[in-house]
Amino acid sequence: MLMSEKIFVTKTGSCICGNIKFTVKLDEVPRVFNCHCVDCRKKIGGMITIIELRENAINLNYENLSIYEHGGGSQKSIKKHFCKNCAAPILTYVQKWNKYYLYAGLLDDISILKKAINIFYEDSHFPFMEIEKNNLKT
Ligand SMILES: [Zn+2]
Ligand SMILES: [Zn+2]
Repeated sequence: MLMSEKIFVTKTGSCICGNIKFTVKLDEVPRVFNCHCVDCRKKIGGMITIIELRENAINLNYENLSIYEHGGGSQKSIKKHFCKNCAAPILTYVQKWNKYYLYAGLLDDISILKKAINIFYEDSHFPFMEIEKNNLKT
């Protein structure tokens, strides 16, 4: 199948207070990551699940977002975008990969999220969480 024939699906989502509403174009099988790293843990209190976005895949009103910027492990910038009102995490921009990642739980319909790759699991994960080796990024 050619790239141009790739199948996309359009999904809707929002934060808990509803100030952020968006539509997003995703691959039929999106690239989903569970990040267990310390930064993510400190940001929201636990593991995060994010979807890698293609360029210009999301349509939302950036005026309702606040940004917290910090240096990642590679000293490149990471920008966490969250709702100004309810503080729900919306997007993370990772300069190292020049990509935006959407917090998966914001989607209204999560049924397409059937598979996820676990990252930074070896570095940091809750001991109660056991993940099969074949779902880990090596
Ligand atoms: Zn909100
Ligand atoms: Zn992380």
